[in-house]
Amino acid sequence: MSIAENVAVIKQKISQAAIAAGRNPEEILLCAATKMNSTENVRLAIQAGVDCCGENRVQELTQKLSENAYTGVPIHFIGHLQTNKVRQVVGKVGLIQSVDSLRLLEAIQLEAAKQNITQNILLEVNIGNEESKSGFSPQEIDTICQKMTHYPNLRLKGLMAIPPISHFSGENRKFFQEMLQLSVDITAKKYDNVCVDILSMGMSDDYLDAIACGSTMIRVGTAIFGPRNYR
Ligand SMILES: *Cc1c(COP(=O)(O)O)cnc(C)c1O
Repeated sequence: MSIAENVAVIKQKISQAAIAAGRNPEEILLCAATKMNSTENVRLAIQAGVDCCGENRVQELTQKLSENAYTGVPIHFIGHLQTNKVRQVVGKVGLIQSVDSLRLLEAIQLEAAKQNITQNILLEVNIGNEESKSGFSPQEIDTICQKMTHYPNLRLKGLMAIPPISHFSGENRKFFQEMLQLSVDITAKKYDNVCVDILSMGMSDDYLDAIACGSTMIRVGTAIFGPRNYR
């Protein structure tokens, strides 16, 4: 199947899953996870109607930006970002989804202040409390939200999660439900500088479960582009 056909199928499935959950399909955005894919493939996905692109690595982002790969859609950063590389990302992407430590948050604030811009961010939650993953623990999220008032050049737009690798369909629903509850909790507190409208969760294997549990943004790579070649 072509990239265009894959995107069409995914959009159809998004609609069906949304309607089945009593949700408006338009509140769910499709973010193409473009890592390891060429500029040409990225353009095909954009033509096919993805809502935004998410890039994982700073070097790939810089390269594709120089080739105007993302023309037409917002670009997000979704990978682990080292503090010494924030300058190459802040102001260059509409949203940094993967803010996974207070140290990184502070580095982004410093750089955004230097550029005199407001940088939209999501907090990455290590929802499975996995040793191998970065991100805030669910228990830390409220404290970080309280602190957002001290970061005038950041706007917190919501939460993102990559749950543990699942072994059967539906296994991650409990994590998706916990994420929804977290986002409902912080929304209710009406913190300064926090405007939670994005809940970024769900990938190729589990995006239908994520939509059933309230996701507003799914990040899909393999189901759009096919398997990645890690060679
Ligand atoms: C690669 C990646 C995805 C997409 O993964 P697929 O399983 O290929 O859909 C989503 N989110 C992040 C952060 C990724 O790195």
